[in-house]
Amino acid sequence: MTSDTLSAIQTRIAKAAAIADRRGSDVTLIAVSKTHPAEAIEPLLQAGQRVFGENRVAEAADKWPALREAYPGVELHLIGQLQSNKAAEAVVLFDAIHAVDRPSLVAALAKAMDAADRRPDCFIQVNIGDEPQKGGCAIADLPALLESARAAGLPVAGLMCLPPADVDAAPYFALLAKLARDAGLEGLSMGMSDDFETAITLGATHVRIGSALFGARPAA
Ligand SMILES: *Cc1c(COP(=O)(O)O)cnc(C)c1O
Repeated sequence: MTSDTLSAIQTRIAKAAAIADRRGSDVTLIAVSKTHPAEAIEPLLQAGQRVFGENRVAEAADKWPALREAYPGVELHLIGQLQSNKAAEAVVLFDAIHAVDRPSLVAALAKAMDAADRRPDCFIQVNIGDEPQKGGCAIADLPALLESARAAGLPVAGLMCLPPADVDAAPYFALLAKLARDAGLEGLSMGMSDDFETAITLGATHVRIGSALFGARPAA
């Protein structure tokens, strides 16, 4: 990663935003650093990037306390599935949680937030392509889940999705944007390395970009 890579992505974000008559500054770039060691993350921090995404609580707990110490102002987003028994740890470690997708997790997060007196922003993940292997609540279950999350005191910032692979993502992004509008939510966490410009033209407020910044991830 060089600072040129970061500025190239920022330019692409600004251009996509301009197409939709939005500002680049309305879109938060979440640099997805999962699987990458601290040495790979530091150049990005040195270039001024402060918002990062991780998909595992344990990995984030290993990497980020030291990096946060060295680089003040970091905002850390959990973008992966969260088990209820890790809710307490996640609430302390993360500033935003993007995969709230079921009532049991809403309850665990509410309890953890009360205990820690800390309220990270929450995004409700929607299984936008109705795919059995993916997380996210069913579209039909969204109103009830949203209501229970709000009733439990979770700060719901918006919706998040991972559209089906290998097909045009645009219709799924447009659908998520409509669901958010209907629910009165402003945040839209959608778009990754291959499709973030499309997501931005359709209203994304948070794009989650990994490989376009860091290169391919090491094989698991
Ligand atoms: C890994 C991951 C990303 C980043 O994917 P890239 O294609 O590398 O940009 C975004 N969102 C989620 C939920 C992820 O797990």
